[in-house]
Amino acid sequence: MTAPQPPVRPTKNTRKRVKVETCTDTEENGELLSVVSCQLSVVSCQLSVVSCQLSVFSFQFSVFSFQFSVFSFQWSVVSGQWSVVSGQWLVVGFEWLVCVGGGPSVMRPWILAETNYGQVQGCAYEVAVLPMGATEPHNLHLPYGTDTLEAEAIASRACAVAWERGAKVVMLPAIPYGTETNQNRCRLSMNVNPTTLGLVIRDLVESLEGHGIRKLLVLNSHGGNEFKPLLRELHGRTGMQLFLCDWFRGLTADVKGAIFEQPDDHAGEMETSLALAYFGNLVALNADGTLAADEGRTAPTRFSQVDRGWISITRPWHLLTTNTGSGNPHAATAEKGVRLMEVIVERLSGFLTELAAAKIDDRFPF
Ligand SMILES: [Zn+2]
Repeated sequence: MTAPQPPVRPTKNTRKRVKVETCTDTEENGELLSVVSCQLSVVSCQLSVVSCQLSVFSFQFSVFSFQFSVFSFQWSVVSGQWSVVSGQWLVVGFEWLVCVGGGPSVMRPWILAETNYGQVQGCAYEVAVLPMGATEPHNLHLPYGTDTLEAEAIASRACAVAWERGAKVVMLPAIPYGTETNQNRCRLSMNVNPTTLGLVIRDLVESLEGHGIRKLLVLNSHGGNEFKPLLRELHGRTGMQLFLCDWFRGLTADVKGAIFEQPDDHAGEMETSLALAYFGNLVALNADGTLAADEGRTAPTRFSQVDRGWISITRPWHLLTTNTGSGNPHAATAEKGVRLMEVIVERLSGFLTELAAAKIDDRFPF
């Protein structure tokens, strides 16, 4: 057995070595920390650079935005000035047109409202045409002036053809009011009583006679106007030879069936076709192009004899119709309107030409 060895006490060298080893770990950690710290510094520096660059970019963008705003404002000012200049040019152009008379004259010597005193002085007019219209609603889609516009479209064309054939005809301004007592419940239907209309025509007859014109055609476009009693009343009291045409009755009775699908009374297929052809910009349409109109249905009275036409009444229009339309307009086309107009103009202009040439003698018109 050996005696137990006393524990070895650390010598100076031993303590030193331990101390040195401890010292060596600390230095390595320090180096690592230094590297990491250095790398962090680099990253931080790079971040600072990026941040700085972003700041520069942001500043440049702000400058660019500001310059763009300035440019936009300047462009707005220039555009505004250009608009003002354009507007001034338009005014100048319009004034120039007014000064020089609007270029080549479109005055039609057979339309009194367009012609002038210089023209009329030297023209021996033979026949006057007086268009009679109305102011009343026409279903939901046609204008209140439909009858007047139709009368003017027909009369002006018939007079033009007659004039071209050598007839000295003159179309008087249309009377835009008619008898509307049966439409007194239809909003803004404007009535002139039959006797009042008769007095107006009588005064115009006197004027024409005073100016040496002795033949007058009353061209009526409104069913509520009935002028035959006036012709009877004035017969023998005036030197004027009076003629009457309700163009929607006898003049076109034999052709309407061939042109239109359904019979027409008021604002139906015939009137709508004429409107589409000659004042289509005043016809109300839906977004899909269809007419903004109802079907034009009418209600029967309680008397079949009245509905058959055996017995006549003045029909209260607000009870007869839904929206003032009497007759279905939905099959109307402009082409049908043109076909009807061609017939009307040919027939009327033929009559006007013959009437202008006819000599008034004791047996006139036989
Ligand atoms: Zn009408």
